[in-house]
Amino acid sequence: MDFRRCLLPVLCSLTWTAPAIAQDGNTGPHPYRPGIDIVDYAITLDLPDRGAVINGRAVLAVRRSTRVDTLVLDLVSLRVDSVLVDNQAVAFARSDSVIRIPIGQVVGDSFSVVVRYSGEPKDGLIIRTDSTGRWTAFGDNWPNRARNWIPSVDHPSDKATVSWTVRAPSERRVVANGDLVEETPLPSRPGTPARTLTRWREDRPIAPYLMVIAAAPLVYYDLGRDGCGVGEFSSCVRQSVYVFPESRDFLPGPFAHSPEIVRLFSELVAPFPYEKLAHLQSSTRYGGMENAGAIFYADAPFRRRTMGPGVVAHETAHQWFGDAVTEREWSHVWLSEGFATYFALLWQERFAGDSTFRAGLRKIRDEIVKAPEVASRPVIDTAQTNLMALLNTNSYQKGGWTLHMLRALVGDSAFFRGVRSYYLANRHSTALTDDLRRAVEGSSGRSLGWFFDQWLRRPGFAEVTTSWRYDAAERRVVATIAQGTRFGAYRFPLTVAVTDGSGRERRATVDVPASASTTLVIPLDLDAAPRSVTFDPDVRVLGTFQAR
Ligand SMILES: [Zn+2]
Repeated sequence: MDFRRCLLPVLCSLTWTAPAIAQDGNTGPHPYRPGIDIVDYAITLDLPDRGAVINGRAVLAVRRSTRVDTLVLDLVSLRVDSVLVDNQAVAFARSDSVIRIPIGQVVGDSFSVVVRYSGEPKDGLIIRTDSTGRWTAFGDNWPNRARNWIPSVDHPSDKATVSWTVRAPSERRVVANGDLVEETPLPSRPGTPARTLTRWREDRPIAPYLMVIAAAPLVYYDLGRDGCGVGEFSSCVRQSVYVFPESRDFLPGPFAHSPEIVRLFSELVAPFPYEKLAHLQSSTRYGGMENAGAIFYADAPFRRRTMGPGVVAHETAHQWFGDAVTEREWSHVWLSEGFATYFALLWQERFAGDSTFRAGLRKIRDEIVKAPEVASRPVIDTAQTNLMALLNTNSYQKGGWTLHMLRALVGDSAFFRGVRSYYLANRHSTALTDDLRRAVEGSSGRSLGWFFDQWLRRPGFAEVTTSWRYDAAERRVVATIAQGTRFGAYRFPLTVAVTDGSGRERRATVDVPASASTTLVIPLDLDAAPRSVTFDPDVRVLGTFQAR
């Protein structure tokens, strides 16, 4: 997601549901619900004409891989009216955050669970009436807020397909993940508002944090099917925008490039993974939230007409990275946010050119070297239990920069082949950082453990001090690279640009070892002392450079 609205962490933590996280903030390598796999959710919701009380019925298809006698489902605060296991009523136990369901009597490995529930969700499904009296409901689940309105195994390691059946007043349009299956007016009683039943079906497994509906008076804007030849489901990717009526004249606005963005990522990685891609004006707390096939964007940038294409590129990249390939543990969230950050830059590189791309990299590098969390914590932060705190410069900017350095290290061809093979091997499933490492090791034929450890498993960045002299006898530049002690020494390839007396620039790349000080001979023949020497001219090393 785009967390720019959360740059003041105190504002985010105020609305953050602390108890749920304190109890279940599983960031470590332990399975969240051992032996349990939810395969499918079929969720039926009755939404009110006014107020925030919902009535729900969730049918879960469950698979059990070990002997488990109790199924624990996350559901915060809502009243549970009944639970059926394989259509038999069972005596469940309810706490404020979970339902404990006895499954010892189940024969076999697959069974169904039906939960009937009702009440006013405290979070997750954001139900509001705005100043004009307009009633809206938007799902906003990241990281583990789905449990406020969906009985679920609410963890990214357990992905499932999902069907939505929503009964709501007809004046509200209901949009969700997947394909629209049905929109049918319901028989109404005289004097009551007309109601409509809407069904959506997502046929690919997704994490609970991506399972959402919107119910609001939204108008539809068709972006067409331009991304033809790049869809996993059909030859064309249908894209659309849903906004409030007063935002209609803003369109296509920031979505004008959406077809090109989908086409670029499809070419770089693999076909678009979902049935369609809808973009919605919503009440997400984030700048944008990458819900699978239905991206929700913050409301204010629509109203102020300030929304740009950068957030669209970022959330669209998530459809591949985060949505189709999901980090199995929260501590590896950079696999989602670092990729989205870098692929948004790749879109800039393609459509705005190299200098814009490099300016973007410089800006992000400046943010990284100033961020206190980068200096104190690694990107893969297994010690962090506050999940909101993982939305930081490490996961986004440093994660994105690590991909950039990986590309510089192994070259474009091996980098993109590696990313594709990582994606295809883990598509519609989950992954950890080592899956990416192995894929790029396979495509490049190089051992990369040192690279991933250096940039992702320890805090900091390179602090480099450079000096050089001209060796007239050897006709070469001799460079000295000293590294600071704060974060230790780093190993990286370093490009050096040398401008000779005639003004001609030549480049060479040398390998800098992880040493406090290294003297390197730049392999360029020079007739005379050069006019200037520039270190890292292409912006490929995450660090600070100072000339001595
Ligand atoms: Zn993101």
